[in-house]
Amino acid sequence: MFTHRLKYTYLAIASALILLAATGLWQLLHKNTHTPTITVPAGDQSVIPLAIIGSGPAGLSAALYGARAKIHTVVFEGPQPGGQLTTTSLIENWPGVGSILGKKVIEVAREQAASFGALFSTEEIVSIDTKTYPYTLHTSSGTTLSAFTIILATGASPKRLNVPGEDEYWGKGVTSCAVCDAPFFKDKNVVVVGGGDSAAEEALQLVPFAKNITLLVRGDSMRASAIMQARLKDYPQIAVRYNSAIATISGDGLHVTGITLGDGTSMAIDGVFLAIGHTPNINLLKNSVTITPQDLIALQPGTQKTSLPGIFAAGDVTDGRYRQAGVASGDGIKAGLDALEFLREHGYIDTIAVKLSPRLYNPAKLARKPLESIESEQQFTDRVVHGALPVAVDFYSDYCPSCDALLPHLERLAAAHDGSIDIVKVNIMHLPSIAKAYTVTAAPTIALFENGTEIQRKSGSITPEALEALITSKH
Ligand code: NDP
Repeated sequence: MFTHRLKYTYLAIASALILLAATGLWQLLHKNTHTPTITVPAGDQSVIPLAIIGSGPAGLSAALYGARAKIHTVVFEGPQPGGQLTTTSLIENWPGVGSILGKKVIEVAREQAASFGALFSTEEIVSIDTKTYPYTLHTSSGTTLSAFTIILATGASPKRLNVPGEDEYWGKGVTSCAVCDAPFFKDKNVVVVGGGDSAAEEALQLVPFAKNITLLVRGDSMRASAIMQARLKDYPQIAVRYNSAIATISGDGLHVTGITLGDGTSMAIDGVFLAIGHTPNINLLKNSVTITPQDLIALQPGTQKTSLPGIFAAGDVTDGRYRQAGVASGDGIKAGLDALEFLREHGYIDTIAVKLSPRLYNPAKLARKPLESIESEQQFTDRVVHGALPVAVDFYSDYCPSCDALLPHLERLAAAHDGSIDIVKVNIMHLPSIAKAYTVTAAPTIALFENGTEIQRKSGSITPEALEALITSKH
């Protein structure tokens, strides 16, 4: 009996030692041996008490709670300010409001957070160093910043098909943003790939423009909600084709001209709109916090806390189930409250806040020059074709979130290079003839002209760095 008990005691001790060693090894591997204490950090690096990465409903809701509690809160807006909501049109399930444009929800939430003092930065966060505390944020311009708390609200990005022709024709007929690119497909035949709510919505967004819209569903049923499926039936130009998957996308070098399906049949079409779900954007933290088997940021039960102290996550980056704007907003509120509690519990008090004030990070407000709009073909000829300076043309469309995201960067470059380059904008919905003449098939497209000839262009999602390289390449 006694030896039995002794054996169990030894076993228990051995298990505890193994557990301890495993925890130690985990910490050693991740070098998270720090105990967060909030003081004024050594050095001269700027400091952010609450850094929020991402500006969709999750990020903006967290910002509202942080700023309203009078904590210096900085939102890094990311490559697609406002996130996925800006790529939808009307949303009907934002509680408390009947029906509202996704873009408007974001605009109001941003203004609300800003009215309490939240600050917004267009700098992109490229990596986060979690080995020492406070954590270090690295931006694309080479700046490093210290953060006491971080909320990751980077959302999710549209999935790709990974079939031949997709990359070659991306922005030349293949797109994942109907709200941006539908106007380029006036009287054309297009397919929408996917069977969820997004696919149904994309098909409906194409109705005012495209001649025929075929929804390609890979299985034998759609998973879109009944109300969205019913709405598709109201439009004779929308057809649903089941058990159909794209095998290849082909074109004439400039545009998509057709697809082949898995069963070998081909379809002559002009556009492929993808709506096949999203991949959570976990890259910034995937090597430092626990990730779930579904590649989401793992949370401690009932909270928005990640496995690292002072780092929280909210919205689609944590949610593989609901993926609703309202849920993301609620998550953002919880993450904001969790971050405030963390700051309080780790010594962020008024006296520290005062001592920190000279070191607080304030995103630079760079000079901007509004772009002049080209309103007629004649004006395009005078200003662009016969321009004395090199001219960069921003071809944009209404309701194009990537165009909206690029505009402040273009205005900043217009101010910085005033006198050496002319930067103008053309709304392709108002002047489709110019878009057609210059084979512009995606918004935004930035084309650089010199002596009346186009010498370079970039389309689709253009990073600020790529834009600057394009604009500065010829003067
Ligand atoms: P979903 O994950 O709901 O749907 C993705 C669709 O794409 C599925 O039909 C899936 O097929 C299909 N698919 C996935 N991969 C491929 C592939 N490689 N080739 C072909 N088809 C593929 O994503 P959604 O973006 O549509 O919706 C995400 C969430 O957002 C949902 O919760 C939705 O309700 C919500 N939403 C709500 C809206 C609204 O209320 N108005 C509007 C838009 C989105 P399969 O079914 O076979 O897996």
